[in-house]
Amino acid sequence: MPVETAQRPVIVWFRDDLRLSDHSALHAAAETGAPVLCLYIHDETSPGLRPHGGASRWFLHHTLGALSKALAAIGGRLDIAEGPAEAVILDLSGKIGAAQVFWTRRYGASEMRIDAAIKSALGEAGVTAQSFNGQLLYEPWTVKTKTSTDFKVFSPFWKAARASGDPRQPLPAPARLSAAPYPAAAPARAALNDLSLLPTKPDWAGGLAQTWQPGEAGAQARLAAFLDGEIAGYAANRNRPDMPSTSRLAPFLRFGAISPRQIFHATEAAAHAGEINRNDADKFLSEIGWREFSYHLLFHFPGLAAKNFQNRFDAFPWRAPDARALNAWQRGRTGYPIIDAGMRELWQTGFMHNRVRMIVASFLIKDLLIDWRAGEAWFWDTLCDADPANNAAGWQWVAGSGADAAPYYRIFNPLLQGEKFDPEGRYVCKYIPELGRLGETWVHRPWEAPPEELARAGIRLGQDYPMPVVDHAKARDSALAAFKALAPREG
Ligand code: FAD
Repeated sequence: MPVETAQRPVIVWFRDDLRLSDHSALHAAAETGAPVLCLYIHDETSPGLRPHGGASRWFLHHTLGALSKALAAIGGRLDIAEGPAEAVILDLSGKIGAAQVFWTRRYGASEMRIDAAIKSALGEAGVTAQSFNGQLLYEPWTVKTKTSTDFKVFSPFWKAARASGDPRQPLPAPARLSAAPYPAAAPARAALNDLSLLPTKPDWAGGLAQTWQPGEAGAQARLAAFLDGEIAGYAANRNRPDMPSTSRLAPFLRFGAISPRQIFHATEAAAHAGEINRNDADKFLSEIGWREFSYHLLFHFPGLAAKNFQNRFDAFPWRAPDARALNAWQRGRTGYPIIDAGMRELWQTGFMHNRVRMIVASFLIKDLLIDWRAGEAWFWDTLCDADPANNAAGWQWVAGSGADAAPYYRIFNPLLQGEKFDPEGRYVCKYIPELGRLGETWVHRPWEAPPEELARAGIRLGQDYPMPVVDHAKARDSALAAFKALAPREG
């Protein structure tokens, strides 16, 4: 590389990769020895981008704050700009005389279109754009069936992905960076607070702040705590919302505060060293595999969040919008304790346990006959880990309309699910304290409790806690009839 090029600044454009370690683009920029401009663009105007939901905005704000501090500690600086990414990057790269722009790849259709346009415009301006993998273990186009098509079923997908070899070892964070100056005449720099990512009136984020430590250090601490003990029994207990049984790494992965390679290798190393059980490790890594599969689906089927993957579901007779039923579900007031606990956990903490996500999604779709897209949108707004691939794939899985989805006749019984996975009602009582004195016999079925039990527990049904909004047995029959009327699956 000519000396002149080596000294021209490099821009690292941060997006869903808000960390310093195992960051190929940042690593490559640091290796050039040139000054580096670390850029985050708050882009709410480029066509096709889905705005972040409320909980994600909160998580993003704090993750950006943590990234800014971490960059400053090694001599770098995070610059934030607002506006359409293409205009910002072209202007900025021209004004600082950047030789190269590096970024981590993303997989949504609009995002890829924007990135391709920027790459080509930069090329015309004599600036090299280079993209790196950092968000996935396996690029979606590299995992193929024997006939070179994409996968639609998880198990063979994951088998083929794993057979292609282990992902490479994670990269260290750069020891030092030299920050390129931000030109005075370039697109206006924004302060983090200018992005208005935090809720104000009202500030509903108190429960989120108690639950999460966003940022790379928080992500690494979460992984360490999980591998140091919480993972024990994961294979058996991951369905138990009443136990600290899963990693809670999802929001960190969503914003790239940790990379899947770091998780993969830390887990493998702990299993090799005999510190964790091999079964637990494999089960955990296969869940990371489900994330890979969701991105594989999103890449090959860009409409995943809006369109049925199986188009025979387009004919499904959803009930006309029922604001009361939807509101009862959103607010955790359906009268089914496991549903209401899950929806309240989501509202308070920006998270919900996976098993409970499946149960509440089944309830919305199959008991209330409300279109899965209404649930997907609510999760998008309220989950800190709201993810373009995982959320859409999760909803379509439960609806039965997705790839490798649950069969339509799998309709979760909220009462039995609650009793099976939260046997003492500890999870329910944590989020619905008004049921706290009911005891485990009735806690998942308060409407069946004898009046004296309700009186003893201080509950007036319909006042302190709602009666069920639907009769599950009848709702199940209606859903089965509606699903049976659909055309059979092709192929
Ligand atoms: P762990 O059990 O510790 O798993 C580790 C990681 O593997 C997770 O952080 C996640 O990245 C990945 N993972 C685990 N389960 C799944 C899965 N079923 N599909 C895809 N990836 C998975 N996950 C999201 O990250 N964002 C979403 O917006 C999201 N929406 C969902 C909506 C519905 C209706 C359903 C049924 C599932 C959804 N999931 C989503 C998947 C799953 O519920 C969460 O990833 C998981 O609960 C996160 O908790 P954890 O980090 O403790 O998971």
